[in-house]
Amino acid sequence: NADTAMYFVKDNGRDNHMFYSDKILEDIRSKAEIEDILRDALRDDGLRLLYQPQINVNTGKIDEFEALLRLKNRNLSPAKFIEVAEMSGLIIDIGRWVTKEAIRQMAEWRDKGYPVKPVAINFSGKQLNDREYISFLHDTLQEYQIDPRYVEIEITESILVEETENTLTFLNELKAMGLRIAMDDFGTGYSSINYLTFIPVNKIKLDKSLCEKFINLDNSVMCSLIGLMHSLNLIITAEGIEETYQYYRLKEGGCDLIQGYLFSKPLASQDIENVYNYNFINQTMQ
Ligand code: C2E
Ligand code: MG
Ligand code: MG
Ligand code: MG
Repeated sequence: NADTAMYFVKDNGRDNHMFYSDKILEDIRSKAEIEDILRDALRDDGLRLLYQPQINVNTGKIDEFEALLRLKNRNLSPAKFIEVAEMSGLIIDIGRWVTKEAIRQMAEWRDKGYPVKPVAINFSGKQLNDREYISFLHDTLQEYQIDPRYVEIEITESILVEETENTLTFLNELKAMGLRIAMDDFGTGYSSINYLTFIPVNKIKLDKSLCEKFINLDNSVMCSLIGLMHSLNLIITAEGIEETYQYYRLKEGGCDLIQGYLFSKPLASQDIENVYNYNFINQTMQ
């Protein structure tokens, strides 16, 4: 077990392997349990997607959604179970399930008469091991008759750490197919502007923590930073926005989209239907 080995090595290095046992063993066990839960969920229809609106700062309308994975009958945090999915390799099947379900849902909304809006899907670097992902994506778009430009793939900088050449090839293929690419969690890693010049991205998602820093900057500095990203043809989404004043500051600073509890938490697909054409600014700020 790779996990156990990792801990073993680490502990040898610190030369105190008597020290840890209980906490770590518990952790290993719970990871094994989560792995079982994920395996069962994949097999028994136990996964579902929620959708969080990304609101246009000017129109107040939903410009786009982000699909976020949940376990149907468990209150497990995605951060935790995604990590286990990545370590166990289950992320390959889970990633395909998420892709297909999001596209199926877009077709369902379309068939009910709602205008098609882009949906963003989170993509883990470990899914680069799925050599057939692109053709799977292509077939799924075909099956549901969804235009590729309505699907956005969210990556994080960590995807660039290894296998840069494969990664670039993969991203360029997505781009050539017409998909959009978003850089997620910008502000939590190296956040190098350099990346943005050679990776084919359409959008930057400013992490909650970076949004908070931006808000405290001089207006002119915030405008320059966002202006720099705009000059690279990037759309800017501010994530984790919970307060009205944050909305006003980020709008002033030039952000394009706001995603956060201020406007909406992630919602089940039926609840999205009630707010599909809502003006969130009027509804929230009156
Ligand atoms: P993320 O992609 O950065 O997604 C945004 C996270 O911020 C979501 O957490 C969302 O519920 C949360 N959020 C949205 N608005 C607010 C707010 O105003 N305040 C706060 N405090 N949080 C807010 P969630 O759904 O728990 O997902 C956590 C992470 O798990 C995601 O971060 C993403 O990295 C990963 N994840 C979720 N679904 C998937 C998936 O289908 N595939 C992969 N590979 N990763 C996923
Ligand atoms: Mg995301
Ligand atoms: Mg994010
Ligand atoms: Mg994240």
